[in-house]
Amino acid sequence: MNSRAARGGAGIAYRVDVAERHAHRLRVTLTIPRPAAEQHVSLPVWIPGSYLVREFARHLSGLAAAQGARAVALRQIDKASWVAQCRGRAALTLTYEVHAFDPSVRCAYLDARRGFFNGTSVFLRVQGRDHEPHRVTLAGLPAGWEVATTMRTGTRRNEFIAADYDELVDHPFELGRFWRGTFQAGGVAHEFVVAGALPDFDGQRLLDDAQRICVAQIALWHGNAPGAKPPFARYLFMLNALDEGYGGLEHRASTALVANRRDLPRAGSTERSDGYVKLLGLVSHEYFHAWNVKRLRPSEFAHVDYTRENYTALLWFFEGFTSYYDDLALLRAGLVDAPRYLRLVATTISGVLAAPGRKVQSLAQSSFDAWVKYYRQDENTPNATISYYTLGSLVALALDLSLRSAGKGRGADLDAVMRRLWQGSGGGPIGEDDILAAVAAAAGPRRGPALAARLHSWVHGTDDLPLAELLARFGVRWHEQPPTLAQRWGLRVAESALTGVKVTHVLRGGAAEAAGLAAGDELLAVEGWRLRRLEDALPLLPAKASARLLAVRDQCLLELTIATPAGAQGAVQLGLDESAGAAARALRKAWLQG
Ligand SMILES: [Zn+2]
Repeated sequence: MNSRAARGGAGIAYRVDVAERHAHRLRVTLTIPRPAAEQHVSLPVWIPGSYLVREFARHLSGLAAAQGARAVALRQIDKASWVAQCRGRAALTLTYEVHAFDPSVRCAYLDARRGFFNGTSVFLRVQGRDHEPHRVTLAGLPAGWEVATTMRTGTRRNEFIAADYDELVDHPFELGRFWRGTFQAGGVAHEFVVAGALPDFDGQRLLDDAQRICVAQIALWHGNAPGAKPPFARYLFMLNALDEGYGGLEHRASTALVANRRDLPRAGSTERSDGYVKLLGLVSHEYFHAWNVKRLRPSEFAHVDYTRENYTALLWFFEGFTSYYDDLALLRAGLVDAPRYLRLVATTISGVLAAPGRKVQSLAQSSFDAWVKYYRQDENTPNATISYYTLGSLVALALDLSLRSAGKGRGADLDAVMRRLWQGSGGGPIGEDDILAAVAAAAGPRRGPALAARLHSWVHGTDDLPLAELLARFGVRWHEQPPTLAQRWGLRVAESALTGVKVTHVLRGGAAEAAGLAAGDELLAVEGWRLRRLEDALPLLPAKASARLLAVRDQCLLELTIATPAGAQGAVQLGLDESAGAAARALRKAWLQG
């Protein structure tokens, strides 16, 4: 801590008042000692970890400036920047309000029950002063509200200190009357705070399961040697349980999570529901990011630019490989068994194979275009894009299996690649060349160059991965279910009693596209029979290869003829092949411990 900052007498200082809870309004006072004659300030347009320009300034209003009692003129430069015309070096004080009513993990929220905010929504950046200490003081907290954050505490109550602006906006705050519990992993204190849980929430179970995940991940990155420590002095999980919601955002020493209230573990039950496993997967995913993307990170993110998009072609690695390890860590922690883990992998495979966009967009392109494509999904998304999360995780799987099968269970694996990257970069910025080099080195001189070249083609090309073949070497059976009617017709629908059967996506090159259906069409009838659900049409389809379809678009009836091809891609199922040979079983045991 900077000694001047500790005395509270210097540095950039923010006071955040949360008294106006019913108005969802944060009142911020920013004090800038020794301002420039023309002092520029700006609010970030995006939050690192979520690759979309969100224009946080749209929620900022009432900006005013003063030096002592004298009002200071402010000029707005662009959508998120202002300049104050100062006289002399007397401290400049800016006051403004932030509308805080976004329940996601990316912005700010305030009501009578809780508060939450990210610095990117709240703290104007003071140009030229990024590297000074920044101080935060919370005000207006109602009696009984607690504060959870990993920002360092200052000397006064509800005072917090960040060494620079990057640190300031990488320690979100949770405020309110929340549940809290702690555990140790790798010799480091970990804390969980949970807002919005039901009275029967079994917090101890969540702590125990999270601890197992953290221990497994620390071992992955740093080995099992005594004294192996994660690269942070403490860690905080902030979970907000909602009626409906799912998501997380990673930070250097914490994560903000949103999950369905009903997915939390319940007292008196030991069952791990699919919803709870999904929540544990989210916990695992965001924790893994403390290494992979917060420290080990794309070279383009070495210095974050908060005013614009920060492009990288490497999200397939930083999000995709993190997605591979999130569920794999559940297996290693003993929270799912091998058959259940394979069901999770099969769901990912099925999702990728159902997206014609995998033949259109490479993983590198998908990463680069995240700002305008992944984060702006529409009816054309499955036709023109592929997710760097799902396909990236399958590339990690294919790479792990390729490394493992070469060593006949004794050789390298993807863990060795991750550790090599971590050690080689000192937990810092890396490029694609570093990843390819680490793969080549882990695979050894004989196979390394070919495997690195294969990884390059998986990332920059659009050919399907050889997963069925790789999995067979590990005694894992690949089975395709018969296609559903939606898969045969090449469309996706949303069904409800209110809207009927509504087309959400028409897939590239499919029967629905050829028939003239479009996203938004309502399917009324097939072969003269009213439809309530799409699958109701199955018994109505005649033996002939096409069907008469009645649909509505923009109030107009459409009479269409749709072909019903038999050979469509069905969902993939994976299972343990009990007839696998000894070599395959040995490989499987080393990979899945089962
Ligand atoms: Zn992620």
